[in-house]
Amino acid sequence: MRESGLDAPLRTVRGVGPARARDLAGAGDHTVLDLLFHLPQRYEDRREVQSVAAAAAGASFTFRGRLTGLRRIYTRRRGFTLVRGFLEDGTGRLAVRWLNRPYLTNQVAGGEEYLLHGLVQEAKGGLELLNPSCERVDVHGTRIVPVYGAAGGVGPAAMGQILAAVLAQVDLPEVAETLPEELLRRHDLPPLGESLEALHHPGEDADVEALNGRRSPWHRRLIYGELLDLQVRLALLREREKGEPRRRRYRIDAKLRRTLRKIPPFPLTGAQERVVEEILADLAAVHPMRRLLQGDVGSGKTIVAAMALAAAVESGFQGAFMAPTELLAEQHYANLERLLGNRYRLVLLTGSASDAERLRSGLAGGEVQLAVGTHALIQETVEFQRLGLAVIDEQHRFGVAQRALLRQKGDRPDLLVMTATPIPRSLALTAYGDLPVSTLDELPPGRSPVKTEVVPVRRREEVYGRLREAVEAGARAYVVAPIIEESGRLDAVSLAELEARVREALPGAPIAVLHGRVPAAERESTMRAFAAGKVQVLVATTVIEVGVDVPEATWMIIESAERFGLAQLHQLRGRVGRGAAPATCIALHGRLSEAARRRLEVFASTNDGFAIAEEDLALRGPGDLMGTRQAGVTALRAARLPEDWDWLVRARDDARELLGRLDKAALKALGEAVEEIQA
Ligand code: ADP
Ligand code: MG
Repeated sequence: MRESGLDAPLRTVRGVGPARARDLAGAGDHTVLDLLFHLPQRYEDRREVQSVAAAAAGASFTFRGRLTGLRRIYTRRRGFTLVRGFLEDGTGRLAVRWLNRPYLTNQVAGGEEYLLHGLVQEAKGGLELLNPSCERVDVHGTRIVPVYGAAGGVGPAAMGQILAAVLAQVDLPEVAETLPEELLRRHDLPPLGESLEALHHPGEDADVEALNGRRSPWHRRLIYGELLDLQVRLALLREREKGEPRRRRYRIDAKLRRTLRKIPPFPLTGAQERVVEEILADLAAVHPMRRLLQGDVGSGKTIVAAMALAAAVESGFQGAFMAPTELLAEQHYANLERLLGNRYRLVLLTGSASDAERLRSGLAGGEVQLAVGTHALIQETVEFQRLGLAVIDEQHRFGVAQRALLRQKGDRPDLLVMTATPIPRSLALTAYGDLPVSTLDELPPGRSPVKTEVVPVRRREEVYGRLREAVEAGARAYVVAPIIEESGRLDAVSLAELEARVREALPGAPIAVLHGRVPAAERESTMRAFAAGKVQVLVATTVIEVGVDVPEATWMIIESAERFGLAQLHQLRGRVGRGAAPATCIALHGRLSEAARRRLEVFASTNDGFAIAEEDLALRGPGDLMGTRQAGVTALRAARLPEDWDWLVRARDDARELLGRLDKAALKALGEAVEEIQA
């Protein structure tokens, strides 16, 4: 195939119609060349054909023979189809069973010879071959057969066909090299064309184990190439972002430091001290700050943000602090008002602010120095006179566009984004390249770790009995359930049920209900009553997941805990154990899937947000986590994280070196080009 053929759109591939082309585009495939980077998920070794007579249970084999006695069976009760039959090869007869492949009976022809590859296992009447792949002998013959996985909503079988069609029209060894010779040599890597050929058309004598273990040199070539590409793109984007020097100079001096030191009502932790200095150094630098502050729940991010905002105001600028929910914005406002209110003028701007008009004019006129708020801050009607620093709390709750909108409220303002969902090291480097990250890895003194118990729901009564005792002794508690609150709709029935259950279990206890639809004023008074101890039990949806801070709360029951993700469970738990008293969190659960069991195990076994984030990454894959989509990490095909960490580091270092050779103008132009492509 000619070089231009690789640039051809997907529609030119046999078997790809408009719908599939759209699905594949969603997975990042736009051209024929893109498809070649879908590597086989695994390889089936069909070089050695086993005779039926010699088959043994517990291993995978390839058999060659005819299929007889095929019949289709519907299992009405369980609602799926079975196909049963026999494989005969002259040495014997082996039972075969397929689940949910009803079409097989129409496709298989009685007289033909087939290659079947699959797991042999012990069944009732003897050995059985379960769910084997099945192919006429003349299709691939007896060799190593690549098996492709699903992509972008296109199933594995269809992907296999599409790849077969593409590979039939492309001369893989001729695919042009994309990496400089120098880098291939540095890492001892084979060329791209050779690698694609070896991976898609494994030779007769290939090492199947190495291929399946992704340990072949050809895998290494693709893993490295992919990560380098990503790192170069990230570096260019960042180069572009920091492109223009700042407009506003901060006054970072001894006087400012003295002022800042007076703000916290407690001694800062070592980690807080360090992070404040990192931020001040950014503010003193030539380019606007773009810093990610990560710290586990309760690590004390708010005070750091308050000090950064104070630095902005002391230098003559305005500050903005954006939070994802009204409840959280209200709390931050109350906090900042307490910390900074005697020095500066603050306003709270949320969707339900009744005097929004007046607040906005205060901001536009410059009389107001700090604005705390929700999305309301990024409405068109909001103007700042001289925004210097924008802080975004729980940044993963916001989209890229929303962050950009906030930044556009000023002239190249500084940006501090905060998150309590720590980013695993590998992901931080992938998704953010080397975006400056500050980490609060130390909890304020006097905290005792939350004691977590995972308890099956049949012991609910016992659990609520313990809660009753605790509440009678004065404890404050959250009872949380996975009630869906979406676009203003609320699963009110189950919240009411939950409330009734809690009231029954704790007769006479002061209980209140909290969810996203409770009007702001009422919510605020409920939170205040809870903070003051007048309400002792808060029955809530996940509105309390982020940021709510009542140090006296020491109990939490999470209902249907199996329905929460690991990171979310950890966030919820972070609402207790924020004071000196020991705290308890009980995760009540119903029937557990394997994955849910694992999540709850990890949840109970550690309080360490970083460990949880690493596990979460391992359990869910990087695609779900924040920040990854923006950087195109979901499109990772050859590389896997954190397994390929070493290659990631090499790629980052090489990307830096490559870009370091370019001059500023070239960098800027490239950065713009990348941004355009990614948009
Ligand atoms: P998060 O990082 O989860 O946003 P917060 O900023 O809400 O944490 O802080 C959690 C609690 O710890 C708050 O009550 C806060 O006042 C308190 N706190 C923060 N830093 C310190 C410190 N250095 N010493 C004592 N208490 C602190
Ligand atoms: Mg917080």
